Amino acid sequence: PVVTRFAPSPTGYLHIGGARTALFNWLYARGRGGKFLLRIEDTDRERSTPEATDAILRGLTWLGLDWDGEAVSQFARRDRHAEVAQEMLARRHAYKCFSTQEEIEAAREAARAEGRSTLFQSPWRDADPATHPDAPFVIRLRAPREGETVIEDAVQGTVRFRNDQLDDMVCLRSDGTPTYMLAVVVDDHDMGVTHVIRGDDHLNNAARQTLVYQAMGWDVPVFAHIPLIHGPDGKKLSKRHGALGVEEYQAMGYPAAGMRNYLARLGWSHGDAEFFTDAQAQEWFDLGGIGRAPARLDFKKLENLCGQHIAVADDAALLHEIEGYLAARGDEPLTGDQRDGLLRGMYSLKERAKTFPELLEKAHFVLTSRPLSYEPKAEAALDPVSQGILRELTPQLQSASWDRQALEEAVAKVAEGHGVGLGKLAGPLRAALAGRTVTPSVFDMMLVLGREETIARLRDAT
Ligand code: GLU
Repeated sequence: PVVTRFAPSPTGYLHIGGARTALFNWLYARGRGGKFLLRIEDTDRERSTPEATDAILRGLTWLGLDWDGEAVSQFARRDRHAEVAQEMLARRHAYKCFSTQEEIEAAREAARAEGRSTLFQSPWRDADPATHPDAPFVIRLRAPREGETVIEDAVQGTVRFRNDQLDDMVCLRSDGTPTYMLAVVVDDHDMGVTHVIRGDDHLNNAARQTLVYQAMGWDVPVFAHIPLIHGPDGKKLSKRHGALGVEEYQAMGYPAAGMRNYLARLGWSHGDAEFFTDAQAQEWFDLGGIGRAPARLDFKKLENLCGQHIAVADDAALLHEIEGYLAARGDEPLTGDQRDGLLRGMYSLKERAKTFPELLEKAHFVLTSRPLSYEPKAEAALDPVSQGILRELTPQLQSASWDRQALEEAVAKVAEGHGVGLGKLAGPLRAALAGRTVTPSVFDMMLVLGREETIARLRDAT
């Protein structure tokens, strides 16, 4: 069975690259009936914060990337990491190294002066334990000096590392704490991880981690190192480019489904499919479809996909997500009337809105309530002549059956009576119903507002 994991270091918010890594792991597991695990790599006590962990969990939750079981704390597993280091020591796959930091520096200096490799070669590697001093030591991996370590990476292909360029990495520090490199391997093994999908900035680590797997006689997982995300200009992603926390994307009003779709396409493709559902993404996602070139962030495409997802979303689910969006922005929650109005109007509001702020902008007429405030342009549209025409509309609306056709007929009749086109009437009508001149169609507004409210607004405005 497939087991994937997302293993963020809680040193900041969940950024877009991390979110995509999580998504790929989630898609891969979910599409194969596997498990998607979450491990918080909080071994670095100075840089890890509980706030960052919370932000990561919130970001994943917003994105809908549910993980199986409890999130694992790497730090909580430090005794187990130390135990494995001791086991490697017992099996002579690791050794105690008593070299001090000064000695290591001096050895590097000497090597540099002689033009030799500055890779540290510990004099303790082959020392007889009987000669060990009673002094602090680290536990180093006894890495092979000859040959190569080969990674068969599902994205990068075969990647070879010369073993004489990999040092005997430290597994356990002199204070008994495990290094990050050891912890990752022990955790992935113990958690049964079969596929490690992560950023290609970890490709070099994979070689040294492979040596730990081999030392322990453990199965090496499938590695898939995915290229970084670049800005729209092809340069490394920066704040300016949208290297933002996913929560900021939430606060900008992108729906999570659109975000998932977009992130899935960021570096992965399935034929020429652009828009797809979660079910399709899970079915189609494979490591072979991940590109080797850095993906470029493209806000146009993001908005485009978001618009398509909003258009097909379930109305109640959409309302729920909009409420989450408002909360993320720290805005007032919706009133019951506003919720009802949004739900009634959702069928039309969700068309052509690429983000929630756009949708809410169109929804202004249901969110506002009497007495309306009129924008200057709306004020101007409601000149005395227009007001007179609108007044005649009221009795027509009183008796019309409240469906689109009847409303169109009622408005057309009044317009004809004044020898003006429908367009002439639409402007003042918009102004009267919404207090604005840019609104959804007047008939949609009337249908959503209902007879009573429509007539009340007309009376207010005339
Ligand atoms: N904690 C590492 C990071 O946040 C990820 C390590 C891994 O996925 O193996 O970059």
